[in-house]
Amino acid sequence: MTIVIFPAGRGMHLVPRSRAAAVAVRCCLLLLAAVLAAQVRAASPFSFSTVPGRLPKGVVPVDYTIAVTPDAIARTLRGRESVVLEFRESSAQIVFNSLNETLDDVRLDGQPVARVVSSDEQQLTTVSLAAPAPAGRHTLSFGYQGKIETIPQGLFAQPYVTPGGVRGLLLSTQFESTDARRMFPCWDEPAFRATFELTVTVPAEWAAVSNMPIAQREAQGKLATVRFGRTPSMPSYLVHLTAGDLAAISGRSGQTRLGVWAVRGQEQYGAVALANAAQILADYNEYFDYPYPLAKLDSIAVPGGFSGAMEDWGAISYNDQTLLVTPSSTMDDVQNVYSIQAHEMAHQWHGDLVTMAWWDDVWLNESFASWRGAAQTDARHPDWHWWEGQDETREAAMRADARVSSHAIEQPVTNELEATNVFDPDITYNKGQAVLRMLEAHLGADHFRDGVRRLMKAHAYSNASSEDLWGALGAASGRNVSVLARSWTEQPGFPVVSVTAHCDAAGLRTLTLSQRRFLLRGQDPAGTHWMLPLLIRAGSSGEPRAELLVHDGQSVAAGRCAEPLSVNADAVGYFRAEYDAATLATNTRAFGSLPAGDRIALLDDQWALVESGAQPLPTYLALAAAMGTDLNERAWNQVAGALGTIEYAERGSPGHEAFVGYARSLVRPLFDRLGWDARAGESPGIQRLRRTVIGSLGLWGDQEIIDGARQRFALFLKDRHALRPDEQAVVMTIVARHADAATFARLHAVAKSAANETELRRFYTALMSVRDPSLAVTAATIAMSSEIPPQADSLRLWLVLALSDEHQQLAWDLFVKHLDALLAPHQPSGPLYVAQYGPGMFWSSVPLDKIEAWVRANVPAEMTADVARGMETARFRIEEKSALVAATDRYLTARASAPSGQLLAGR
Ligand SMILES: [Zn+2]
Repeated sequence: MTIVIFPAGRGMHLVPRSRAAAVAVRCCLLLLAAVLAAQVRAASPFSFSTVPGRLPKGVVPVDYTIAVTPDAIARTLRGRESVVLEFRESSAQIVFNSLNETLDDVRLDGQPVARVVSSDEQQLTTVSLAAPAPAGRHTLSFGYQGKIETIPQGLFAQPYVTPGGVRGLLLSTQFESTDARRMFPCWDEPAFRATFELTVTVPAEWAAVSNMPIAQREAQGKLATVRFGRTPSMPSYLVHLTAGDLAAISGRSGQTRLGVWAVRGQEQYGAVALANAAQILADYNEYFDYPYPLAKLDSIAVPGGFSGAMEDWGAISYNDQTLLVTPSSTMDDVQNVYSIQAHEMAHQWHGDLVTMAWWDDVWLNESFASWRGAAQTDARHPDWHWWEGQDETREAAMRADARVSSHAIEQPVTNELEATNVFDPDITYNKGQAVLRMLEAHLGADHFRDGVRRLMKAHAYSNASSEDLWGALGAASGRNVSVLARSWTEQPGFPVVSVTAHCDAAGLRTLTLSQRRFLLRGQDPAGTHWMLPLLIRAGSSGEPRAELLVHDGQSVAAGRCAEPLSVNADAVGYFRAEYDAATLATNTRAFGSLPAGDRIALLDDQWALVESGAQPLPTYLALAAAMGTDLNERAWNQVAGALGTIEYAERGSPGHEAFVGYARSLVRPLFDRLGWDARAGESPGIQRLRRTVIGSLGLWGDQEIIDGARQRFALFLKDRHALRPDEQAVVMTIVARHADAATFARLHAVAKSAANETELRRFYTALMSVRDPSLAVTAATIAMSSEIPPQADSLRLWLVLALSDEHQQLAWDLFVKHLDALLAPHQPSGPLYVAQYGPGMFWSSVPLDKIEAWVRANVPAEMTADVARGMETARFRIEEKSALVAATDRYLTARASAPSGQLLAGR
């Protein structure tokens, strides 16, 4: 599943820790192994009998035959189901999942059963037999009445309005993690694999798409009955159905038929996705060395539904904004389409062919799909510099993971109903992806790929645990992967490596290395240590050397003292580095000549160390100033983000004007180099960098930029082709921020006349940047109005958050008042978002005790740990604000009285 990640808000980082208080813990391999061995959940290979879950394992499904007749208008469903069961032992009871279903005519092998009890609270049905049935095959059959949902959980109805203004309604499914049971009673846990034959009766003019090709379609008057082919053995959460007034374009990749489906009239916008799918499928067939096993692979653009994508086997569903490329789409949209497809298609192996044993191993699905998708995107689009851009997701993970309250990649899940809460965007997706990339670099890409291939072959059409993966990677690489890897997947957090250089008389350098857990605030009482793969580069070029840091005080030779140094070359590692003062000064002097990845790692780490209180602010600002007019997009995004955090902290402070003047002086030379307009042959990254620079200068009050944006908006009002789609958001955001009532009305008119949802999302989001308080109230009303069509309901939450940048109290009031409506399209992830991210969005205007009380009252009681994470972020940000304001004002005052340039060199 791809979930569109909750925006982190400006400057979500944590607090100072005392360097002196660092817990001195000596670590060795044995100690680490002992710590891991003592953890509650013993890692073990997959075994059906011992996998966790609520359902008894004595009676298991083998094959389902399911026929459903949905009534989309009445939101009801009539079904008939027959399940071939394997009684692994004699039993008088059959227990399976159901929710909101009423069963009738329940029989085993054609004979009525003694009793049927369904509990919606337990989400279980228990069938009791008059006498135990012997071990062996039996067939359970029943009819049932069910429900069609109005939010994307189970089989749901999605109303929409086409760009031409026609109203429509379609049906689609979203089952992960535990919602297949809402459409048909089933054994709804991932280890209960079975085959499925689905039949659906729908209006005769509708198309219907499922996992398998259509085996038979029969029209009877106004209805058509469509029977799909029987699936391979798979878990229930991957069953798919979409039905409605849909049309497709199609193609092939090798033996596989490819289709892209959309609401009729939109299907031609699937052409880019169709070409992507053909390329990605061919590449994955080769990478996994296990050909995609189904006859077809459909990609379905659902208008609305949920705001991401879902990897159902053979029938991947996408929010149409993440699949279709229209003339209104930007380069960012095009890149998102490719990378999300690459993620979802990786799931056809990691998740569908080989499924995690239980929800505590969901990272085996999500981290792998994220890592493989990023690697695929980077390989096929080198000019997108995808891994450099993914540094942003690594940083998002590290921000979340630098909290005392963070959790491990592998999380215990005792009850499948808690499974939704383990899909943590920061840890399950982003940290998992980064850790796998580090592991791949450590083992070597060939060994890593061979390990993945071994896993696929050994566990095809079955399930696997983390330990199975470590075994496969170990067999491929000849190394003990388990101990190293488990230190990353079973422990929360990550280390900072202290690097102290010693120079001999000849100038040769020896490093002394040690590690401690990196926390933005607080201390690590556990003295956590990791097996830490370093890539050490001395100098400004050349291949880095691998070194495994296993004990504190470890020594390693590293070139000459006069050369710059990185222990995280190319920013591949998931850790931070803290260099001694002399090495940092050398790195700062050589900053302009460093490889891009080394520079990015240095910026990331130095900023995080400043935020944690371990390093003074000027050490970071010296690096930012050393960027000059370099054109690396990710490095500048890092700088723009850090300066943006300071600017946000300074709002309302006397030092604000001085700071934005300083920030403009750092960035303006880059704009002077880039100008307003794209040039022929520029990479997407440079074009996006231009927009970042313009956006930052506009936010920081550069009058020439504001005037330039206004002129361009005036031309756009006369001619909608005057601004390319890529340029519209940044121009309209600047204009909206500084808008008066008349300008705001013009922006609003543009939004109302959006040609499609892509434009609509862009224009309405820009509107929320308005700085004028009374116009912001109007913007808030617009965000909740029926101007937003039903399929764009998920946008409303992002609009409220965009509004919160300038008007936090107003956004909070809106958030609280409309919580249910805002979260409905994001369910079942809503409570996780509220708990983990809510406090960090509203900390600067709403008292923390008020936020905490409200959050606790609005999420399930078992989410205490998630609430703690959100509150830790909010508390940190309040402390960070005062620390940053003090440090910035001090720096700028000193700078104003110092001889020119003196402060740029360092402290
Ligand atoms: Zn996924």
